[in-house]
Amino acid sequence: MESIVSYDKEYVAGTYGRFPVEIVSGKGSRMYGIDGKEYIDMTSGIGVNAFGACDPEWVAAVSAQAATLQHTSNLYYTQPCARLAKALCEKTGMAKVFFGNSGAEANECAIKVARKYSAQKKGDGCYTIVTLENSFHGRTLTTLAATGQDHYHELFQPLTPGFIHAVANDVEGLKKVVAENCVAGIMLECIQGEGGVVPLTKEFVQTAAQLCKENDIPLIIDEVQTGNGRTGKLYAYMNYDIQPDIVSTAKGLGGGLPIGAALMSEKVQNVLVAGDHGSTYGGNPVCAAGALSVINRLDESFLAQVKAKSEYVFQELQNAPGVEAVTGMGLMIGIKTEKAAKDVVSACMAKGVLVLTAKDKVRLLPPLNIPMEDLKQAVQVVKEACK
Ligand SMILES: *Cc1c(COP(=O)(O)O)cnc(C)c1O
Repeated sequence: MESIVSYDKEYVAGTYGRFPVEIVSGKGSRMYGIDGKEYIDMTSGIGVNAFGACDPEWVAAVSAQAATLQHTSNLYYTQPCARLAKALCEKTGMAKVFFGNSGAEANECAIKVARKYSAQKKGDGCYTIVTLENSFHGRTLTTLAATGQDHYHELFQPLTPGFIHAVANDVEGLKKVVAENCVAGIMLECIQGEGGVVPLTKEFVQTAAQLCKENDIPLIIDEVQTGNGRTGKLYAYMNYDIQPDIVSTAKGLGGGLPIGAALMSEKVQNVLVAGDHGSTYGGNPVCAAGALSVINRLDESFLAQVKAKSEYVFQELQNAPGVEAVTGMGLMIGIKTEKAAKDVVSACMAKGVLVLTAKDKVRLLPPLNIPMEDLKQAVQVVKEACK
């Protein structure tokens, strides 16, 4: 018999520690293994399948576009790209969008915009971007440099210079870093996802926004994981009463196809000009059509349901036996457990529920439209596994 697992082990670069599960299909919040086993999916492909697997509306949008025009080049105008950019700007108050294919690329664009803006305003010696310890911004050499976790850096030196890491939620520390450096940008995740679902305080995020305003520094919010309805708002920064200069996003935006976006405010909208940046696939019609079908459905009544589901999960898990703390917002939830997180993941998997880890926590990122019955069933399994 053909062994996919052995092909994969032999021929695919060993960059991932995979679970011994071969997923062949999915429907909504359910995933199906080759052995016929059914799982409730509390991962959505790490926050990507915003409407679950093979959501009919998303499939229709993507299939229709694939049958019309799958790609041209950025030398021509195409409908899905322009419509998606318009929708994103209208819903956020941002002014322009650059499209790439991933979160890392969205952040690369954000960093380029911040550097060029600051070089033009303050001179080309002003290039330092402040990010936070324990952050995660991607795997390219520049976004790795931005990422404030040393273990990702080892043996890949030298990384792109020009990044300083400040301590998350240390207001005075951030003020000091800004006072002592010519800062070209401050970049943060409102909730550090890979760092263990650690939310930033309102005071800290607002201080960052204030410092940026006072010193004419572009504020970049990395919404790759927190964006597109995940926290119960369209973007997580909307929970903090601030207005960023640049928002990077990806993951849930495409609903399962690769797309990343850097949204630029009026202030920085014209920093990049023809020839400054580009991406062959950027704004690809199929990906953009899928993303538009996602973004168009994230309205107030849908987001209210995300919040209601979130409240249910927090209520069930806070103070449950074996649970030390529950963190996060919306359907981006971290659980600090007495047991090792990986043991909880295995126990859940054996019971037919897929969950993630983030550092030492168990992490839940279910599809935003997960039916309440599936959510209830999955949370009971998680609860049992934490005991
Ligand atoms: C996943 C993630 C990235 C990287 O996204 P890719 O699409 O894997 O390049 C960047 N920032 C944050 C906050 C993320 O969660």
